[in-house]
Order: sequence, then structure tokens, then C-alpha cells
Amino acid sequence: MSTKKDIRALTKEQLREFFVANGDKAFRGNQVYEWLWNKSAHSFEAMTNLSKATREMLQEHFVINHIEVDNMQRSKDGTVKNAVRLHDGLIVESVLIPTETRTTACVSSQVGCSLDCKFCATARLKRMRNLNPDEIYDQVAAINKESLLYYNHKLSNIVFMGMGEPLMNYKNVMKSIEKITSPEGLGMSPKRITLSTSGVPKMIKKMADDEVKFNLAVSLHSAIDEKRTKIMPFNATFPLADLRESLEYWYAKTQRRITYEYVVWGGINDQKEDIDALIKFCSYVPCKVNLIEYNPIDDGEFQQASPQAINNYISNLEMHGIVVNVRRSRGKDIDAACGQLANKS
Ligand code: SAH
Repeated sequence: MSTKKDIRALTKEQLREFFVANGDKAFRGNQVYEWLWNKSAHSFEAMTNLSKATREMLQEHFVINHIEVDNMQRSKDGTVKNAVRLHDGLIVESVLIPTETRTTACVSSQVGCSLDCKFCATARLKRMRNLNPDEIYDQVAAINKESLLYYNHKLSNIVFMGMGEPLMNYKNVMKSIEKITSPEGLGMSPKRITLSTSGVPKMIKKMADDEVKFNLAVSLHSAIDEKRTKIMPFNATFPLADLRESLEYWYAKTQRRITYEYVVWGGINDQKEDIDALIKFCSYVPCKVNLIEYNPIDDGEFQQASPQAINNYISNLEMHGIVVNVRRSRGKDIDAACGQLANKS
């Protein structure tokens, strides 16, 4: 690792000041900023509208810690998984999920994960560190490029559903979204971004206070505390009552409906009491439910519930006027589906 400063840690204003302090025009800062973000330049040499002297001066002071896509795998269903090498050699994964009408980028926010969900492969990796804003941004930019290359259109949606718990890396995730939505970055609408969390009440309230414009998804999986704590042990610290309160706060402030992600497992949450509890939880704030297909991660402790059990969920939820979607998994053959990101390759 170099001791020079990472230039992308600077704001545009700081870049402008840097040039003024070095006897150049502030405007030069804007040019460099555009190269760094909108054009994703990997080197100062690439900044062809700067003089050689300017490029050398930048080289003396800074580095560009750009990610490298180390390994790319393509699934037979068109899903692409990138193993991304960070400047310090650590690896995270991100996924491009194409449908006929759009492409979604699923990006990571941490190396490993702070949480300990029993059904998720990422939880088995130790949390090594938080990703920087530029490392999150670069994952999105890389997938945008791949989308153009393979599917002939730009990236349309982003989900923070890769490795890590985004609300445990709040500041950097917010900074990355700022860049992703800025016209000087990727210019994407926040309405096309969804942040998924296991549910950190304090941070959900913070997001509401910060008046974020993106969507919120919560990985619920059970609306019964005792059961939820068994499969998502951190629920003991952030119980459902606190989660509920934070979601009510979110809705009061944002007026935006919440998505609950939910996997139904045989012998775990496939009973009537589970459905009833979910229906009750859904009555607190406007929401919809995404039933996610389970992606086995090995030992067979968890198993996808029977089609009958899933149908029970669907019909009961619908009977209560709750919108429910069934989400088929994508990219299973390359370990790119929900819960499978674990740096296997
Ligand atoms: N930490 C955040 C972001 C990860 S999103 C969160 O928990 O929301 C990954 C999504 O995949 C979550 O909804 C998670 O509960 C779900 N998931 C994890 N393991 C899974 C598995 N084996 N099969 C299907 N979904 C899984």
C-alpha cells in the first residue's frame, strides 16, 4: 500500500483548493473530479486533457486506489459475478442480474459481515473491514460497464444486498450513493436504489432523519422474536419491537413503503403461527413482502419449505391485502445468489 493519499478521498471542493494552492486554476479540480468519477479513470496518464506537468504533479501527491475485477463468472441464466480485488488485496463480490427489461447491480458494503445470520454464507467470513465509498462506487461502475457490454443498455437498478450490513457502514454507503446519484458520477435516480438491512433500528431512524430518497428493504425472515433470534442472533440486541418502532418512524418521515424479505424454511417458519405473526407485523406500516427462494449454503440445517407451505403464505398474505412477490434465485450455478457470496473462487 502506498503512503500517498488516495485522491478519491477528496471532495470536489478540496480538489479545487488543491489546484489553487499549487498555483493552478480551481477549474482544474472539476476536470480531475470528472475523470475520477464520471469517467472512472484508473490512472493520471489517462487524463488526456491535462498537461503532462499536471499529471506528473498529481502522480507525486496521490494514488488512485481503484478496484480490479479479478475474476468474472457468467451463469447460464446470464447473471455475472465479479470477484473484486481491493487495493489492500482483500476480495469482495458483486453481481449483475439481467432481466429482459433491466439490469440490477447487487453490491457489497463490507468485506465479510458484522452480523451472524445462520443461513447466510457471508456470515461465515469474518468481518475484515468496511468498504470505502469509492470501493462501493467502483463496483457499480464496473457492473454498468458490463451491462453495456453484454446487454447493450446501462445499469438500471442497484441493490445493497451483497456482502455486509450496509447500516453498519452507514457513512461510507451514504457517500457512495451521493456519488452514484450525482450527475458527476453515474447520475442514477435514488428511486432505483434499494438498501437492504437486517434491521438496525437506530440507523433506520437516522436514515429517515437524513431524508434519504432511496428504498428500504428489511430482511425479516420471522416476525416472532424467539425464532428470529435463533436464525438471526443479533435480533436479541435489536428485537422486533425496536425494529417496528424504527420502521414506523421511517414511514412517518418518508411516506415510502418498506419491502420485507422473507425466506420460508421447512420446520423453522412454515407454520400458521409464523404466517399470522407476519401478517400482524405487516399491519404496522405500508409494505410488501418478497418471498425469496432459499439458496442452500451447505450442511442442510436449513431447507426450503414445501411448495404447499409457500402457497399458504401467499394465499394468507393476499387474503389480508398484502402484496407478495416470489423471487426466484438467479446465478445459483456460480454461487452468486442471495446468501451465497463467500469468495469461494
Ligand atoms: N445485511 C443485509 C444485506 C444482505 S442482503 C441484509 O441482511 O439485508 C442479502 C439478502 O439475502 C438478505 O435478505 C438475506 O436475508 C438473504 N439471504 C441470506 N442468505 C440467504 C440464503 N442462503 N438464501 C436466500 N436468501 C438469503
